[in-house]
Amino acid sequence: MGFVERYASTLEEVAVCCAAAKRDVKEVRVVAVSKTVGMEAVANAIEANAHDFGENRPDSLVEKASHFPEENWHFIGNIQSRRIPDIVRYATLVHSLYQRHHVAKFDAAAAALDKVQDVLLEVNVSGEASKSGLAPADVASMLAFCEDFSHVRVRGLMTMAPQGDTKVARRCFEDLARLQRELKTTLTPDRAAVFNELSMGMSEDWREAIAAGATIVRIGRALFDDTFEKDPYPGEDTTR
Ligand SMILES: *Cc1c(COP(=O)(O)O)cnc(C)c1O
Repeated sequence: MGFVERYASTLEEVAVCCAAAKRDVKEVRVVAVSKTVGMEAVANAIEANAHDFGENRPDSLVEKASHFPEENWHFIGNIQSRRIPDIVRYATLVHSLYQRHHVAKFDAAAAALDKVQDVLLEVNVSGEASKSGLAPADVASMLAFCEDFSHVRVRGLMTMAPQGDTKVARRCFEDLARLQRELKTTLTPDRAAVFNELSMGMSEDWREAIAAGATIVRIGRALFDDTFEKDPYPGEDTTR
């Protein structure tokens, strides 16, 4: 199986998960995380009708997005101040904003390009020390802080779940969805109207994320990696 087949079967399964959750499949966008692959693989994915791509390094974002400017590019990686102008030039949506001192820099870079930068606030729902993001209790004040910047528009929240246990992941996604609903009621009508996105779910846990309300799933290995196994122990007899 190549990307074409994996992408098609993933979209089919997304539709099944949406139906099971009584959700409209149009609410869910699949971002193909292309961070581990080169230009040819991206070109091949575009041929297969993928038009949203995720990158976690500014250099790769610049290289790929400048080559394929018609596609939607999602920046999902660690943000460094000096790279913010590059990110703003190419990113449709930035998923990983959480530091206050970056907000003015995004605002200035976006203003210089006469753009409003759509962003998500990254939340560390699980509290794992290895993960970045705002503590859930700090998101409301970050949202209020962002309101003063007219070239930055907060579209929703993003998280990464702990790996290895889909039940734990599901709880993490449900917590983020609840937080998003609660925060939405505190926003002005204008801000609330665009605060709709929940970016959560990766190759191993996107099904749980859709069940919990994800509007964007970020899938890398399950689309691009020929060796990815949904079941990490294929062939092992679990009935014994
Ligand atoms: C790499 C990455 C993904 C995709 O992970 P897979 O497990 O390969 O699907 C999603 N989100 C972020 C932030 C990533 O860095």
